[in-house]
Amino acid sequence: MAKTKIQWVDYVFNPWWGCVQVSPACDHCYAMVLARRIGKRLFGHPVEWGPGGQRGYAGEARWAEPLVWQRKAAAQGVRQRVFCGSMMDVFEGLREQRPYLERLYELIARTPALDWLLLTKRPNNIAKLGPRSWPQNVWLGSTIESQQWADQRLPHLLQAECAVRFASVEPMLSPLDLRHVLGTGSGQLNWVIFGGESGVQARGPGAAVHWYRDLREQCRAAGVPLFFKQWGSFRQEGEQLIKLRPRDPRPGRDEPALLDGEVLQQVPAPRA
Ligand code: SF4
Repeated sequence: MAKTKIQWVDYVFNPWWGCVQVSPACDHCYAMVLARRIGKRLFGHPVEWGPGGQRGYAGEARWAEPLVWQRKAAAQGVRQRVFCGSMMDVFEGLREQRPYLERLYELIARTPALDWLLLTKRPNNIAKLGPRSWPQNVWLGSTIESQQWADQRLPHLLQAECAVRFASVEPMLSPLDLRHVLGTGSGQLNWVIFGGESGVQARGPGAAVHWYRDLREQCRAAGVPLFFKQWGSFRQEGEQLIKLRPRDPRPGRDEPALLDGEVLQQVPAPRA
């Protein structure tokens, strides 16, 4: 954990590792692969995916880290963003996770100089598992890889009263029409992060360049910040996505990721 290479946040925090795949965005879950490789070494037992799988719960040293980040951010007077979580889904909803969620909410309350970005593929569980009200340093987000999942997930996300509601469109598997939900206010989608998929099985549909452009224009029209993260295992060549070879530099990792030659890395202003 600690400092991260993920561009849209400063830190990553995982109260536990382990999850269940729920939709096509999970097909090539990098967290599952990483957990298979190093989970046992980190937790002393295998970390498993799937219903009934054994999760790996963070120890005391991990829980203490955000308090250090809080002190640094407060001393520097610069708010920092924390992504929770890259190796799990915070609203997975197992009964055994309830005490860890309570502890997470306490930690969030004790770290007002940090903005906590809780990203889920299960926003239908937010109302059930969240606190009575969200503090001002919580941003709630949902992955929406296609219109089908946007239509299913966003109504739950948009009901949440929190500082920022955001969507992670990664990987983008269909064109999206978000015009009816984009906006800067309460009950609207306030931020969009989007990007391609990495890995040998990465999906890069031929029309993706047009889908990305269309989403960019929808966000601009609504005055909603957008963050283009990466092309994943591809690069843009005009209207096409070209699959990268193993030794090619990765846009978004080794060099800036450009959409039509432009870096798009907008982030909403913190509300806290
Ligand atoms: S929700 Fe996230 S962590 Fe869970 S299986 Fe899907 S991609 Fe992996």
